Amino acid sequence: LSERLSGALANLRGKGRLSDADIDTTAREIRIALLEADVALPVVRGFISRVKERAKGAEVSGALNPAQQVVKIVNDELVSILGGETRRLRLAKEPPSVIMLAGLQGSGKTTLAGKLAHWLKNQGHTPLLVACDLQRPNAVNQLQIVGERAGATTFAPEPGNGVGDPVDVARRGIAHAREKHYDIVIVDTAGRLGVDEELMKQAADIRDAVSPDETLFVVDAMIGQDAVATAEAFRDGVGFSGVVLTKLDGDARGGAALSVREVTGEPILFASNGEKLADFDVFHPDRMASRILGMGDLLTLIEQAEQAFDQERTAQAAAKMSTGELTLEDFLEQMLAVRKMGPIGNILGMLPGAGQMKDALAQVDDKQLDRLQAIIRGMTPAERADPKIINGSRRLRIANGSGVTVSEVNDVVNRFFEARKVMKQMAGQFGFGSRSATKK
Ligand code: GDP
Ligand code: MG
Repeated sequence: LSERLSGALANLRGKGRLSDADIDTTAREIRIALLEADVALPVVRGFISRVKERAKGAEVSGALNPAQQVVKIVNDELVSILGGETRRLRLAKEPPSVIMLAGLQGSGKTTLAGKLAHWLKNQGHTPLLVACDLQRPNAVNQLQIVGERAGATTFAPEPGNGVGDPVDVARRGIAHAREKHYDIVIVDTAGRLGVDEELMKQAADIRDAVSPDETLFVVDAMIGQDAVATAEAFRDGVGFSGVVLTKLDGDARGGAALSVREVTGEPILFASNGEKLADFDVFHPDRMASRILGMGDLLTLIEQAEQAFDQERTAQAAAKMSTGELTLEDFLEQMLAVRKMGPIGNILGMLPGAGQMKDALAQVDDKQLDRLQAIIRGMTPAERADPKIINGSRRLRIANGSGVTVSEVNDVVNRFFEARKVMKQMAGQFGFGSRSATKK
């Protein structure tokens, strides 16, 4: 909503150019946000320099301050890079289509094989899993288990034949799929803990044997900056046509997404965010951009607040929000600060097309603010600091003193608790408190 609002306001305001100083200052903040999101340094550099170029040509909108405007450009750029060439799985004209999974050990390939099979089945496909990880003793069994859970068949080398040849298994798996009319083959491969030649050669041999329609590079989002070197090694050693990010449910900040995308230019097709079959989705660039820019979003909020509050107040309020200690006193103070920006009617007045509704709305809102103010002023300092103590008899006293009904007092107190709860959640999610504490 706020984005649409500012978009609307922007059209009504004056034009100009962002100054180099504005751009540089904000670019520094963005750089920190990207590094904190675990984007690799060379990628950050390249990205920032492109954003600066774009920002230089951008027109200034009156609704966003220059810093916010650069943040917006960064966000747009991130979304377009992360999703620029989003496409569906590439399937063969003649079934079976072959999807090969490659990546380091533990990146989530086998788990993904099950998730993909489940997802494809729901779309009416008949996937066959092929177990080509013969490196780890348990790997075939693990694939069979996830396959069963997904309701898909697994093609595996016959037990008791010693260690089989993964290339041979891959070849026979495809033949089996053709014979039994499976329309998609998912080839699970082995991985090592680090990139190594032998692993790459094996994966390349399997690739040559099955000519995949899609080779998906599976990468654990938690590896952050290492994603660059790993992606480069797989690009050169095996080659891939798409990327799957896994373990996004961990505390991964999403930097790996941008790094891999920038370095290889290949699209991110899917995202995995848990161990269960259903913890899987097609990749959403906008969600990933907000995740990477979590810090940037926060900056925007802080920036907006600073138009009305002095910095000290903001820092105090942010610290209180993060611990959930916001008091009614703060609540009142912030409300008054919002009013300093002018009557609500003026703010609404900038919106096109609100018509006659506007005036009516404006009056009601200002009156409600007045009443809210009266109620909070009718409380003792102790009550404002610790609203939990406001019991029935106190509510009656406050109502009488402020010329309102008890239910209106209840309403204010309840809404305050609700707001405090939301702020606490938001603070937890965005690390509001810690960021604000370091911001001077
Ligand atoms: P592989 O070696 O590449 O086949 O990786 P696995 O599929 O065996 O996964 C390694 C570990 O990561 C297993 O314990 C999985 O349960 C876990 N795992 C895989 N994907 C995810 C994910 O998206 N989120 C979480 N939390 N764990 C995952
Ligand atoms: Mg595996």
